[in-house]
Amino acid sequence: MIDFVDLQAEFEQIDDEVQEAIRSVLASQRFVQGPECSRFERRFAAYVGTDHAIGVNSGSDALRIALGSLDIGVGDEVILPSHTFVATANAVVHAGADPVFVDIDPATYCLDPDAVRDGVTDRTTAIIPVHLYGQPADMQPILDIASDNDLFVVEDAAQAHGATYDEKSVGSFGDIGCFSFYPSKNLGAYGDAGAIVTENDNLAARIAKVRNQGESKKYYHDHLGYNSRLDELQAAILNVKLDYLDTWNSRRREIASVYEDLLTSVTTPVQHHDTRHVYHLYVIRTNKRDELKSHLADQGVHTLIHYPIPVHEQRYYKERYSARLPTTERIVDKILSLPMHPFLDRHDIAQITRSVNDFAQTRE
Ligand SMILES: *Cc1c(COP(=O)(O)O)cnc(C)c1O
Repeated sequence: MIDFVDLQAEFEQIDDEVQEAIRSVLASQRFVQGPECSRFERRFAAYVGTDHAIGVNSGSDALRIALGSLDIGVGDEVILPSHTFVATANAVVHAGADPVFVDIDPATYCLDPDAVRDGVTDRTTAIIPVHLYGQPADMQPILDIASDNDLFVVEDAAQAHGATYDEKSVGSFGDIGCFSFYPSKNLGAYGDAGAIVTENDNLAARIAKVRNQGESKKYYHDHLGYNSRLDELQAAILNVKLDYLDTWNSRRREIASVYEDLLTSVTTPVQHHDTRHVYHLYVIRTNKRDELKSHLADQGVHTLIHYPIPVHEQRYYKERYSARLPTTERIVDKILSLPMHPFLDRHDIAQITRSVNDFAQTRE
């Protein structure tokens, strides 16, 4: 059986370092707002290339706090893709704003800039590009639309740690960038964790307070806050894993290029010259998706679908927000995520690609 992700193999590589990091947090008895969190924030900001990173509880919290810190709320519209994890949209609704779902570019699965432009109204206050699957959204036209219309840009980089566009890291283009460290992400904690990055000193100061009950100093609460702190154990684990991120991303890219060479019967992901895709997911497209998925299961290859039902078609959203998104609606029945993680070996890849190609032959 070839698993979709293999966190066990990853753990074997870093076991000793992780155990030592955990032990040292336990020995210190500092569990929140301690040195591991500050160290991770400094190092992650440097990694992304922003002045600030603020650790939070999850990627979902990162998005929700980001929108709140920009004072986005009731009466505002926020443009985002429907082809994303539901957390992106939930953050908009939790902020009190109305999500405006727009269509994607079928080549990249990320926001189609023309659709974004068409979606702007006089109530629009922000755009959330999602760097889906590890593929950077087409940021330049999106930034142009934002600046023409005086809109904020909040990047959802939950799937794209280390991805670049014009040699700059995703997360560093917008007013705020949001990351998730859910265990299976390219950089994952051993539990829930997330981070917010920004170049803006005032926003960073506000966000650092908001994630800790709005507290500026003990007993003083300047903002309506949350408990959304990044705890020391998770930060210590992230400090270990951050050192491996580039190596693991490079391995994902190598595997993607082997997949691309060997998979002859399905549509493989595109990569533009000026972008670095980090293949959080390796998503192919084929007309016989469901048959291929069950054929692969028979061959012991575990696949998933990201995502089978777009957000605007989920019951909560469908009852409240209407959208017509022909590209999104067309591709969701065709996409399939193949196993992708840095620990796939040659034999795994050979078996996966052979199984996919065999299927195409037997169909003819
Ligand atoms: C994982 C993910 C999130 C949410 O992150 P959590 O840490 O699970 O809350 C948001 N957006 C996208 C695109 C994601 O993949």
